[in-house]
Amino acid sequence: MQNFDGKSVFITGSGSGIGRATAVRLAASGARVAVHDLSTEAARETCDMIRGAGGVAHEFLSDVSDVAATRAVVAAAEAKFGGIDILVNNAGTTSDFCTLDEVTEEMFDRSIRVHVRGTLFTTQAVVPGMKQRGGGKIVNVSSISGTVGNPMATTYNAAKGAIAALTKGWAKELAPFGILVNAIAPGPTITPMTTNRLAPEYFTERAKQIPLGRWGTAEDMAGAIAFLASPDADYITGQIVSPNGGLVIT
Ligand code: NAP
Repeated sequence: MQNFDGKSVFITGSGSGIGRATAVRLAASGARVAVHDLSTEAARETCDMIRGAGGVAHEFLSDVSDVAATRAVVAAAEAKFGGIDILVNNAGTTSDFCTLDEVTEEMFDRSIRVHVRGTLFTTQAVVPGMKQRGGGKIVNVSSISGTVGNPMATTYNAAKGAIAALTKGWAKELAPFGILVNAIAPGPTITPMTTNRLAPEYFTERAKQIPLGRWGTAEDMAGAIAFLASPDADYITGQIVSPNGGLVIT
């Protein structure tokens, strides 16, 4: 396990799934965690899990696509912790799962607002503080949908592809400031996003297509995020790391 003693981390959407597992993991390794989410209950539960294990966490609430509200909670987290060393842009919504001809403007706007607008403007809010502190680590959460594309997922593919592109451009732009920017592109992962929506049989059938023979867990994703956020990844920037059990090998 990496050591995050003295580091402060802001994780969007960490009231559930991958974000929560990342919050718990980094806190267990010494980080102070700003648990960000839409819902008080979800964020509080993550904070309680962290505090119950002896860690430090505080909750911060906003809709990540509401730029003013998210700027305000980033400022509050900076004030609380004295700065943010690590940003994880994780908040996301499920794909609309429909054919191209069924895509509506509303679906498109929702996906782009949460994933792209959320990632872009949360990063814009955090970067000035990182520059002042002489560096930082940013880990975005893309998806294999954004790299290889999934059928029936037009707006999600577009949003996750955009996150991969943002990651690469920011890696180059922010490297002179000591800010490293990477992304993970999870394959199929068992979290409320998938278990709330998909039939149990789908999990079994999909697992057969995955060389490692199982779905990813939120903890598998948290491990990859922790690596990219750690000093072990100090020479890695602009990369899309894909924990996917071998489903996608490029
Ligand atoms: P999850 O369990 O549903 O967690 C997502 C969290 O983000 C939820 O707490 C959700 O709150 C929050 N959120 C959604 N919209 C938000 C907004 N506008 N502002 C603030 N928070 C918001 O899903 P997950 O699977 O852990 O997903 C985490 C990330 O991984 C997402 O970006 C997702 O696209 C990506 N991903 C997941 C998979 C997978 O198979 N699970 C695969 C590839 C990529 P609510 O519950 O209140 O909506």
